[in-house]
Amino acid sequence: MRVDLRSDTVTLPSLAMRQAMADAPVGDDVYGEDPTVNSLEERVAELFGKEAGVFAPSGSLANQLALRTLVAPGEELLVETNSHIVRAELGAAAVFSGITTRTWQAERGLLNAQDALAIAKPDSGPYLVSTTAIAVENTHNFGGGTIQPIEEIRKLHKGAQEMGLHLHLDGARIFNAHIASGVSLKEYGKNFDTISVCLSKGLGAPVGSIALSTKERISKARVWRKRYGSGMRQVGILAAAGHFALDNNFARLSDDHKRAKFLASKLHSILPSLVDPAHVHTNIVGLNLVDLPLSASEFAQLAKAQGVLISALGPKFARLVTHLDIDDEGMEYSAEVLRKVLQHALMSK
Ligand SMILES: *Cc1c(COP(=O)(O)O)cnc(C)c1O
Repeated sequence: MRVDLRSDTVTLPSLAMRQAMADAPVGDDVYGEDPTVNSLEERVAELFGKEAGVFAPSGSLANQLALRTLVAPGEELLVETNSHIVRAELGAAAVFSGITTRTWQAERGLLNAQDALAIAKPDSGPYLVSTTAIAVENTHNFGGGTIQPIEEIRKLHKGAQEMGLHLHLDGARIFNAHIASGVSLKEYGKNFDTISVCLSKGLGAPVGSIALSTKERISKARVWRKRYGSGMRQVGILAAAGHFALDNNFARLSDDHKRAKFLASKLHSILPSLVDPAHVHTNIVGLNLVDLPLSASEFAQLAKAQGVLISALGPKFARLVTHLDIDDEGMEYSAEVLRKVLQHALMSK
């Protein structure tokens, strides 16, 4: 048996999804004539109460298109230390948009509005860098799928408005946050100037993200998307997978959350310091291996030898992600494999 828990990006498009892709009406999207792309952009914008959206091949591009509409070259974006924007986009905001960043650090990525507001320095005059935007990641990936509390988001929104700062939501997994928290997508939407969402994470599309904002910002983002070489033609074939994912794979995200919780409880019962199941909010289980005489990559190697793939994201940090292509049987199997690997390592200590 092989169970791939490295990420929720590893899902394969089902036969039905492929059929929907094959059947999609398409046109040249650079001319704005792909009906399936247009309807997906409108649909997702509507879900979040935003005026417009632009389809992008990756979440990184959706983030970067949004950020450059908020922050001018030489101005500053504030983000949490372990957020995707500063750790996993290879310096794109600096390279493409001349954006400088400063970070605050938060345990498990959990937002405390005051952490961000306290370091914000808008309108800093001609000698110092001026802050113009703050980005929030929800759920927080490297934090272990952490849901950001809506009260803190509201506080951040209020504080940012008072200081004249823009807010961006990296919502690669905002659908997971919504399903687990019950907070509506529109409620998330109204607290941010720009939003990026991924259809290629838990929702299981092979490709596709959307940047959302006002009509004006999105038409600027569209120009930059083309300038970056990402103007795509009959791309409704991919947008159709996004529609299919929203129709079929949305409500089932709660299954992934249950399975992640199950796995966390099993692992916690073997070595409590690995993970606190109460911290597993969605489909990501972050494992802290400090009390284990193995590095994260050794742990991953041993699990892989028995068909269970996990990510080693730091010397002592591993990540397991549940998704659409993992059922209860796969979950039981991986819990058992990980138990054996852990117990063996602990006994040989
Ligand atoms: C996956 C992810 C993205 C986008 O990643 P791509 O691989 O560029 O699609 C952005 N932010 C977060 C938090 C993510 O997990």
